[in-house]
Amino acid sequence: MSTSHVIVGDGIAGSSAAETIRERDPDADVTVITDEGEALYNRILIKEFAKGKLPEAPISIHEPDWYEERDVDLHLNTHVTGVDTDAHEVYTHEGESFEYDKLLIATGGTPIQLPVDNSDADGIHHFWTFQDARKIREHADQAEKGIVVGAGLLGIDLAAICAAQDIEANYLMRGNRWWRYALSLDGAEIIHDALEENGVTPVFESGVDHFETDDDGHVTAAVDPNGDRYEGDFCGIAIGLDFNIEWLQDSGIETDDGVVVDEYMQTNVDDVYAAGDITQFHDTILGERAQNGAWGSAKEQGATAGRNMVADSEAEEFRWVSSYSITHFDFPFLSFGHPTLGEETAERKYSDSEWRRLAFKNGQLIGGVLIGDLSQQSKLKQLIREERQVADQKELLLEEDIDLEKLEAPAQAE
Ligand SMILES: Cc1cc2nc3c(=O)[nH]c(=O)nc-3n(C[C@H](O)[C@H](O)[C@H](O)COP(=O)(O)OP(=O)(O)OC[C@H]3O[C@@H](n4cnc5c(N)ncnc54)[C@H](O)[C@@H]3O)c2cc1C
Repeated sequence: MSTSHVIVGDGIAGSSAAETIRERDPDADVTVITDEGEALYNRILIKEFAKGKLPEAPISIHEPDWYEERDVDLHLNTHVTGVDTDAHEVYTHEGESFEYDKLLIATGGTPIQLPVDNSDADGIHHFWTFQDARKIREHADQAEKGIVVGAGLLGIDLAAICAAQDIEANYLMRGNRWWRYALSLDGAEIIHDALEENGVTPVFESGVDHFETDDDGHVTAAVDPNGDRYEGDFCGIAIGLDFNIEWLQDSGIETDDGVVVDEYMQTNVDDVYAAGDITQFHDTILGERAQNGAWGSAKEQGATAGRNMVADSEAEEFRWVSSYSITHFDFPFLSFGHPTLGEETAERKYSDSEWRRLAFKNGQLIGGVLIGDLSQQSKLKQLIREERQVADQKELLLEEDIDLEKLEAPAQAE
């Protein structure tokens, strides 16, 4: 008898699981359900589309044919509302039910709305889907003044969209710098200068107390907690994600700001797996629970879950050093591993646009940020993967060209 796999979510995690399952088990029934109106596309590239730089076509990854050719049953525009893990069934908003032998939860997250007055006004954008990108592009094309909120990796995309679309924008940040959890002021200043050069003004120790609107309900300004008023007819907000777990209520599946899984992507409930941004997974390198929000990691988690969902295959661990790059400026930027979880850090500035920061925990390198020069990333990632005790050799790791041979040899087990 064939095994029936149901995958909820057709982002990169869900889709790569479907592909892996089909490769491993030609007889399996594979169903993919998504509430979006289009099959897998490149979420990373929608910012380039919103900037006005790319046509729609290259953003799509899978045409519906892709699913047909692989005998994968794709359901678009279908919101999954619940699951009964005893009956092995999921339910949709249209009252349909799908039985499964193995279930994959790959539903990712939804942008959080600012909890302030008028945050749902016309002209205020959140950014996650291709549909969001289409609306942003259309509006940005006509907008004159912008407001961006959210000093992180997605907020900066919205700032870059304003820059590319010639919108004069203020970028409101809560602390004294961009991405304060991963960067010191020294590193962040490189980003601040680049934003200014592109026509975006960073505003520090700010945020939003409320938005003002015109009589038609369109945003006209943001007023920050200091009482300062910033005019804008276009506003982009990126303050984080709520993970899409409502449909798992009362299912017995353990959740905690996401879905809790082990290193095999398996939840606490038999036959139920999860992959992608939504997982709180056991990170075998860190030795603790972690969450990644990156394309490569979601893809690899989907593939790992897919392999483990196929009956009789030997369980495989997810072991991965995640990375996330930004290409908006004339210098590269890369964050890798877990740059915000360090107990201690080391950093160095090499030139006006070259900077490195490394984060350490329990003596191990666990992540970092590279600005300007990414040439050392593979050596640094290798050290993370090898779980090497290197925190006492920071000077060597800050050398422009790291010589791994100079590092003390790893201690041999007795
Ligand atoms: C603008 C933008 C730029 C980014 N840039 C980068 C980058 O440069 N580098 C990088 O590494 N990462 C980047 N990311 C992050 C990266 O895209 C995500 O980490 C990745 O897409 C996560 O994939 P996923 O499959 O886990 O979730 P998602 O891609 O979020 O897919 C989840 C899918 O499930 C669907 N869904 C949710 N709930 C239900 C339900 N109840 N029923 C049915 N379907 C449901 C959703 O609609 C969605 O289609 C970016 C993200 C955005 C939005």
